[in-house]
Amino acid sequence: MALSSYYKQLVDQRRELHQWPEPGWTEFTTTNYLARKLKAWGYEVLLGTKVVKPEACLGRDEKEVQAGLQAAREHGVSEEFLKATEGYTGCVGVLDTGRPGPTMAMRFDIDCIPVQETDDPNHIPNKDGFRSKHNGFMHACGHDCHMSIGLTTAKWIVDNKDSLTGRIKIVFQPAEEGVRGANAVAASGVLDDVDYFLGSHIGMVAKYGEVVIDPWGFLCTTKYDVTYDGKPAHAGVEPNAGRNALAAACAATMQLLGIPRHGSGMTRVNVGILQAGTGRNVIPAHAKLVMEVRGETAAINDYMSEQAMNIIKGCAISYGVKYDVRTMGAACDMKNDPEMVKMLREVAGTIPEVKQITGEANFGGSEDASLLAKRVTEHGGKAAFFVTGADRKAGHHQFNFDVNEPALDVGFRMFTGMVKKICGRK
Ligand SMILES: [Zn+2]
Repeated sequence: MALSSYYKQLVDQRRELHQWPEPGWTEFTTTNYLARKLKAWGYEVLLGTKVVKPEACLGRDEKEVQAGLQAAREHGVSEEFLKATEGYTGCVGVLDTGRPGPTMAMRFDIDCIPVQETDDPNHIPNKDGFRSKHNGFMHACGHDCHMSIGLTTAKWIVDNKDSLTGRIKIVFQPAEEGVRGANAVAASGVLDDVDYFLGSHIGMVAKYGEVVIDPWGFLCTTKYDVTYDGKPAHAGVEPNAGRNALAAACAATMQLLGIPRHGSGMTRVNVGILQAGTGRNVIPAHAKLVMEVRGETAAINDYMSEQAMNIIKGCAISYGVKYDVRTMGAACDMKNDPEMVKMLREVAGTIPEVKQITGEANFGGSEDASLLAKRVTEHGGKAAFFVTGADRKAGHHQFNFDVNEPALDVGFRMFTGMVKKICGRK
């Protein structure tokens, strides 16, 4: 079948998936959709703790997970399937061609953003009737596109199995937003036998017709939730009896923002949320900081983390309050394998829609595919990540985000082209 005959599948699946976006670690309806298709096409489907290591999960909220399970039941997802997930979303489809050859893994992220989709009648999901039906949530980062590219690639692989060798793993990773999911997928070991690992993001820094084959500037990052616990007291009668968690959190925030820059590379620090206090005349006994640090390399990110931990602890001591730090997300830097960059260049060169092949470009954000790539390279494999350009209607994570659907076709041709290069029968 010609590659162009897959276009309808690419668009239809994307539009179906766009209608039921689910936030990280709650993607049960989505996982069911993906797993059913993979299974129907002959893939062995790995679920639950085969693809996610529970102890390595970051930023997983049990209450949200339960809500996701309930929503899946209301969507008619079977109890049998939900039991098979063991409460963990995401899945990996494995196809063995039966011929000796390399093991190749491709990663597609599946979660959404907590943002309400725009009501603008000109927004194409509104115009064409496929807007989000999950109030307050939206595929506003293009992960619906990623999943459809992954599924369509999976189908192409089955249709072309006779011309392929080795084993192929289609990895549908949960909870990319906030870089929470990859840590647990990596730790599960499901990628440890992988020779070639490939990931991609749609949009970002590249326009439709452009493919970035060697992006750099993936910032290492660690996300923390910090809580301070003090003691309440009457602010007029005996403030001295209280232990002020709000004051500790404010002092910590000011000091965190003042961590010295690092001479060897980029750093970032942000306190995004500070919540504290219960009433005007009460010494605030509880405070919560939602924060992150970033660094150009692992060493620089470690420096930022260490400084942050010292400040958080120091402020707790200063104000006589207890503190707790939870790691909510993590990603590292990554560098593409040169052999795979060469392959990506060759594949991009065969795609008629691709008018510009960009070598290096600043990715300018964090991506937890980096943790999967790290795991693969630690086990002797090669890894690469590319950017599939798209014409965006708005910035990522905005309520009117959308991409031109022909961009999905470029992504699909990149992935299938790489499968041919890596697993094609010689
Ligand atoms: Zn994204």
